Amino acid sequence: MSQAPSRRALLARIKTLETENKRLRAQAGRDPLTGLHTRRFMKDVAGRMLALHDRDPGHPVALIVCDVDRFKLLNDAYGHPAGDAALKRLGALIRRGVRRSDLAVRLGGEEFAIFVSGPSALSCDVLAERLREAARRVRLPGAARGHALSLSIGIAFHRPKENLERLMIRADRLLYRAKRAGRDRIEAEAIARPARRR
Ligand code: GH3
Ligand code: MG
Ligand code: MG
Repeated sequence: MSQAPSRRALLARIKTLETENKRLRAQAGRDPLTGLHTRRFMKDVAGRMLALHDRDPGHPVALIVCDVDRFKLLNDAYGHPAGDAALKRLGALIRRGVRRSDLAVRLGGEEFAIFVSGPSALSCDVLAERLREAARRVRLPGAARGHALSLSIGIAFHRPKENLERLMIRADRLLYRAKRAGRDRIEAEAIARPARRR
């Protein structure tokens, strides 16, 4: 009979599996920490969403961009691992909050994007508000009461023929307007109604 593996061997095996898991997630276009899609994956899929809207005004696309407020301070106060844990919980919140047809992305650091395609794009402010409220309930491990997380959010609507870069710049401007206005808030562009067909 073979001997049971030693504790050290088991730990080494777990480590290997974790590394492999990370690699597979990255291959699938997922960020290992948050489970959200990567920027590279976004370029492909969001590009298709925009192309669909270019052809069909009945398929609007909304872009919600979120940035954690004063995240550097929270990292400095409670440590990088606590910051990571908060990002992980935020990722889970976002994944639970979106539909399968939406595209949820970690743009990098503490910045996220959600693309909502189709008729629900026009009511995506409801989703954004739900996320803003839910983020306030995320506690950093070891954080004092009152040190809640908050998000600033910008929402822009794709204009037919506009490329991804332009759309992201416009959403970012609204996000920074939310920052300047005091953070923990949403700035949304007025909804662009689909053009009437002649
Ligand atoms: P603002 O409200 O203006 O967005 O302030 P901020 O502090 O969030 O913005 P800033 O861009 O100055 O800092 C972002 C911080 O996010 C700095 C960096 O240490 C932290 N950060 C970026 N990526 C990660 C990560 O993966 N894990 C952790 N723990 N921190 C990260
Ligand atoms: Mg940032
Ligand atoms: Mg920030």
